[in-house]
This record gives sequence, C-alpha cells and structure tokens, in this order.
Amino acid sequence: MIYDYIIIGGGIIGLSTAWQLQQQQPRSSILLLEKESDFALHQTGRNSGVMHAGVYYAPGSLKAHFCREGVTATQDFCRRHRIPYQQCGKLLVATNSLEEERMVALLARCKQNRIDAVPLTQKQLKKREPNISGVGAIYVKATSIVDYQRVAQTMANEFRSMGGHYLLKHEVIGLSEEKEQVVVNTNHGIYHGRFLIACAGLMADRIARMLDLPIDFQIIPFRGEYYQLSARLNNLTQHLIYPIPDPNLPFLGVHLTRMIDGSITVGPNALLGWKREGYGQYNLDLKDSWEMLRFPGFWANLKK
Ligand SMILES: Cc1cc2nc3c(=O)[nH]c(=O)nc-3n(C[C@H](O)[C@H](O)[C@H](O)COP(=O)(O)OP(=O)(O)OC[C@H]3O[C@@H](n4cnc5c(N)ncnc54)[C@H](O)[C@@H]3O)c2cc1C
Repeated sequence: MIYDYIIIGGGIIGLSTAWQLQQQQPRSSILLLEKESDFALHQTGRNSGVMHAGVYYAPGSLKAHFCREGVTATQDFCRRHRIPYQQCGKLLVATNSLEEERMVALLARCKQNRIDAVPLTQKQLKKREPNISGVGAIYVKATSIVDYQRVAQTMANEFRSMGGHYLLKHEVIGLSEEKEQVVVNTNHGIYHGRFLIACAGLMADRIARMLDLPIDFQIIPFRGEYYQLSARLNNLTQHLIYPIPDPNLPFLGVHLTRMIDGSITVGPNALLGWKREGYGQYNLDLKDSWEMLRFPGFWANLKK
C-alpha cells in the first residue's frame, strides 16, 4: 500500500500535524512512525509544561502570532478533552537597574504583540510573591501550565479515532525518493508514502541527511537539567518566575517553574557536549565531553 502521507515523529509537532491533516483531509491515509515505545518521550514530555504567551518574540513574526493563538487553542483543546491546566501567570522579575531598563523594552514588545502584560512595582511584586525579591516585574496573565505528555497522547487518540494510523517502536533508518513516492525503511519493515513529513525534533538533521538534502543546519547536542524542589516548598511561589532575559544569552534564563502536579522545578543549567574531533560525533562520552556552559551563578545560588 502507498500511504498519502507518512509522518516521522510522535512528539507534539508530529502528532498535531497528523491530527490536523486527518481533519482537513479525512479521506487521506496517514501513517505516523515513532521510534520509541510511547509518544512524547523526548522534548515534548520533558519540557517545563508551559503554554507561553509569546513575550519574547519579534512583533509581527510568525512565532509571536502562533504563540498568541496557540495559548488559546491549547487551552480550548484541554477544556474539550478534560485535560487539567492552570492559568497561573508568569512574572518576569528585574533584580537591578539594567534589568529594569530591559523590562521597560519588554513591556513595549508585549504591547506590540497584544499580550496582556502589567508592570509591577517592588511593593506589588512582594505582595504577589513574598518569597521573590526584585526591583520590579512584569506580570503576564495568559501563561499557563499543562502536562504535554497528556496533550500528546490525546492528540494521538484523536488522530486514530479519525482513521489515522500510527506505529510505535518503528525507527526510520533509511529514506529514498522515487518519482511518485518516498520509500521509508524502518527497523520493522518498509513503508511507502506519496508525501513525507519529518517532525523528528532533535533528529531533524539526521533525517534530512538520509535523503542527502543540502541542509544548512546541524543539531548540536545540548543538555539542560532541572532540579525539583523538595515537596515542602511546593507553595514557595504561585506564579512561574523568570528573569528578565539577557539578550547576550540564547536562553530564557534560570527559572522557577510550577508544574501541573504541584511541584516546583528550578533550572536549567546548560551543558554542551561534543567530541573533541568536532560536531557530528554522536556517541557522546558523558565523562569527557560534557562541558559546563555559562550560568556560573546558578550552582552557587542553588547551594545557598
Ligand atoms: C528543557 C526544555 C524545556 C522546554 N520547555 C517548554 C515549555 O515549557 N513550553 C513550550 O511550549 N516548549 C518548551 N520547550 C520546547 C518544546 O518542548 C519543543 O519545541 C517541542 O516539544 C518539540 O516537539 P517535537 O515534536 O518537534 O520534538 P520531540 O518532542 O523531540 O519529538 C520528536 C520525536 O521524533 C521521534 N524520532 C526521531 N527520530 C526518529 C526516527 N528516525 N524514527 C522515528 N521516530 C523518530 C523521537 O523519538 C521523538 O518522539 C522546551 C524544550 C526543552 C528542551
């Protein structure tokens, strides 16, 4: 059989693509292939569970647009499928005058992105979050938390109930393109599709290389670790607490995240891993190749 579409990857991108496509083209045959024994076992099931409002994104960009629409769409999806979520809101806290300046610029960006964001004085911040110190903050109301593994599993169920097919434990190991079809080789057999959609997350470059596509990117192994605070601290904060981002760093910064199960995590640190010979070596030896990157203050603060 030749499927109309074969989708690689059972994270949130692969599953939402499959689910949307099956709704738009109910007569199409769609097969989703996932290499793990369950969905969302990589980024999707290991993230912070935050539905972001889109504070950081350049006004007018697709990211800003999708993020604003995405919060509402995800909340609607959760309500329809009885998936618990909490609109706990987010505080971006400034701790010095430089961050205060950046905070003003960020507020202007929120306005341009049509995000409901309110400035808080030091006193108002203390009142909202007695355990957090800062000279001021931005309160973003729409930011919410959810269990993305549950969202992903529900999308998989919806996709299948509409006639979609998926196969777990099916790792794509080779691809070739013929005139009318793509041949997808897996560890459990060969599948044929008229179109292939790759949603392989951090394996994106490897999938592209299977087809010898001339790509201009490469995934660099990068690891961020979060710590869970002890359960007695579950009421330490009521909001998600983020720093005002430093434009010199490609991260949101170390943050306190309320999780939907009531726990609080703190992180991430940032570890970059590579083999001395250069990128492209994937058998990372954790002992000799992970290196600490930036955030020297993180460890010191955590010890305190
Ligand atoms: C630490 C961290 C925290 C984050 N926090 C948030 C957050 O709070 N909110 C937010 O919105 N975003 C967050 N993100 C980003 C978000 O999690 C990702 O953008 C999103 O999960 C990406 O989904 P995906 O489907 O592209 O990738 P993934 O979830 O990684 O899924 C890719 C899937 O493809 C499969 N696959 C790969 N290769 C093959 C193959 N050869 N054959 C078959 N299957 C294959 C994998 O097994 C995997 O299941 C965070 C990311 C990280 C890393």
